[in-house]
Amino acid sequence: MFIKPTFADANAGYEDAEFVIFGVPFDGTSCFRSGSRRAPSAVRGASYNFESYDPEHDVDLCDVPFCDMGDVEVSVSVDETLADVQSKTKRIIDDNKIPIMIGGEHSLTYACIRAFGDVGAIILDAHLDLRDEYAGSRQSHACVSRRILEEVGIKNYVSIGVRSGAREEYDFARQNGVRFYGVDQIQSKGVVSITQDSIKYLGTGKIYLSIDMDVIDPGYAPAVGTPEPFGLAPADIACVIKALAPRVVGFDLVEISPDYDHGQTSLLGAKLIREFIAAKKGVGK
Ligand code: MN
Ligand code: MN
Repeated sequence: MFIKPTFADANAGYEDAEFVIFGVPFDGTSCFRSGSRRAPSAVRGASYNFESYDPEHDVDLCDVPFCDMGDVEVSVSVDETLADVQSKTKRIIDDNKIPIMIGGEHSLTYACIRAFGDVGAIILDAHLDLRDEYAGSRQSHACVSRRILEEVGIKNYVSIGVRSGAREEYDFARQNGVRFYGVDQIQSKGVVSITQDSIKYLGTGKIYLSIDMDVIDPGYAPAVGTPEPFGLAPADIACVIKALAPRVVGFDLVEISPDYDHGQTSLLGAKLIREFIAAKKGVGK
C-alpha cells in the first residue's frame, strides 16, 4: 500500500471538503534563509504527531471533511507562480470551500487575497513588509503587505505582532494610517483584546488570516526565513485564531524554513492549521 503524503486526517475528497489544504513550495524571493519551499512537506509530516481529537473545541478532525490537494507546481517566476496560486485559490472559493495555503514565502499571500478581492486582511508578522520594492522586485516577500494594502485598501488591513521594518516602512505606515499592533501593545492590552479591536476596525464578517511564522518568538519557532527576537508565544497565536475563526474565510501559514531547527517550527505550524480547523468547526459549541 502506498500512502499519499497528505496532511494528517485530510480524508475527504475535494467535492465533499469544507477546507482545502494546498502547498506552494516557492521561496524564489527569500533573501536571508531560503528553504521555505521545503515547508509544505515538513508541515505535512509533522501533522501526524497529533491526536485527531481537539478537546478544547470538542472536535475530532477525523469527522471534519477536509482535503489536501498536494503542492502547486511552481515556476521560477514569482509572477507566474502568483497567477497560478490566485486562480487555484479562486476556484476553491467559488466552490464555497475555505482555502488553507501552506507556503512557501510570504509573497504568496498576495495571490490568495487577490482571489478574494473583497476581504479584510489580518496579517500576523514580525515585519511590516511595506517596502514598495525590494532587491529589484515589487513581489518580494518584503513587499507583500504593501501589495495587499493596494489590493484591499487601508481600512481593510491590520497587522499584529510587528517589531521590525525600515524607517521608510514605519514612515509609510504612520503617514497613511496603516493599522498595526506592536508587541508592546499586545503585552499591555492582551492579545485577545487586540484581536477584538482588529475585528471592530475591519468591520467585516469576511477575514483572511495570514500567519508569517516569524511573528512567533524564535525561541519557539527558530526555523523561519527571517527570525526576529521579542516575539509572541505560540499560545498567543492560538488565541488569535480562536477569536477570529468564525469570520475567517481563508487562511495561510508561511515562511517556515525547516532546515534551521529540529522540527519544532513545522510541528507548531501543523498544530496551528489543526487549531484553525478545530476552532472553525467548534464555533457555537
Ligand atoms: Mn512577512
Ligand atoms: Mn516576517
